[in-house]
Amino acid sequence: MLSNDLLQYAKNLGFGELHFKIDQTKELYAIIGIHSTQRGPALGGCRCIEYVSIDLAIHDVLRLAQGMSYKAAMANLPLGGGKTVLMRPKQLKNRDAYFQTLGRFVNDLKGRYIIAMDSGVVMNDMDNIALETPYVVTTSKHKGDPAPYTALGVLRGIEAAVKFKFQQDTLNGLHVALQGLGHVGYNLANRLHKQGVRLTVCDRDQKLTTHCAKELGATIVKSEDIYAVECDIFSPCALGAILNDESISQLKAAIVAGAANNQLAEPRHASLLKEKGILYAPDYVINAGGLIYAYAEYRNYINKEFVEQHIQAIYDTLLELFQRAHKENKLPHEVADSMAEARLIKPNAHAIIGD
Ligand code: NAD
Repeated sequence: MLSNDLLQYAKNLGFGELHFKIDQTKELYAIIGIHSTQRGPALGGCRCIEYVSIDLAIHDVLRLAQGMSYKAAMANLPLGGGKTVLMRPKQLKNRDAYFQTLGRFVNDLKGRYIIAMDSGVVMNDMDNIALETPYVVTTSKHKGDPAPYTALGVLRGIEAAVKFKFQQDTLNGLHVALQGLGHVGYNLANRLHKQGVRLTVCDRDQKLTTHCAKELGATIVKSEDIYAVECDIFSPCALGAILNDESISQLKAAIVAGAANNQLAEPRHASLLKEKGILYAPDYVINAGGLIYAYAEYRNYINKEFVEQHIQAIYDTLLELFQRAHKENKLPHEVADSMAEARLIKPNAHAIIGD
């Protein structure tokens, strides 16, 4: 039975729909949350991880689907927000059949939800979903990687933060401490290097840091030392919840702007950053480049220039957001939430791609 707490949580988030699918023969326990279709079909990733309880899985799907609605609204996309959570069994006996069954479940929603790849899911799984439904992105058909587009958006976001904080139009000579050199982080490091930025980096994978030092002249620090680096910008591109009491007490940067999802451990950590005079670029606004790419893929607008042009808008959105936060004496993420909520209510006023 869905607990009253979860129902209340769903209500507070402004839901929406929750769909469950159980197929015992395939060991499929799937939940699709559709937060909103006000702006268009709900697009969002599919997570396939082990959950200790159904309540935690539902909590995750609710929270993540709402996040996707806000991200799409702030990226001016004609999309709503949704998410799939799969309660992964200890062993997946027939992975292909498992994801094909999920594909039929997505198809039953008749296009109100478009599924994409997320944690615990690989491209072959997406291809199996695509055998059963057209409402899918991030398959091998387009062979596209959203990470370079996410990195481009983060770069534009850093530029907006620098413009607002330092009143300067160039990143040349600035110092960025970058956490995580994965798909997004390494691409971002490259782009920053080209703009004359000095880099200090960390990653759990020593091969990545060594390569970055060799190719881009980056200084390497241990993962636990990245927060205390004296720099202009701290760019988290690895983990969620990294803005917490411990990390914030060490930060010496003037700006936090990076790709990682759910960076604030708790909302109160945004206030802590402000108290320290640190400008925070809300994660779901700055990291929307990948979503813009995914939407373009769905609509077959695969044209690099076209997608990049729309990603440029992240600069204007963030600058407007910082200015409003300053004027209204609010936190940037509070302003982002209220801007997103306004766009969910008046969906067509801001759409810039598609219908
Ligand atoms: P990734 O898995 O390719 O890279 C993450 C990197 O972080 C890895 O190299 C890993 O070794 C490193 N790492 C993990 N823990 C670390 C630690 N404690 N200290 C230092 N390094 C650590 O992931 P990605 O696709 O580059 O995404 C990075 C972040 O951006 C994630 O939070 C992801 O959710 C978010 N994001 C990614 C995209 C995208 O297009 N890929 C879009 C939006 C948001």
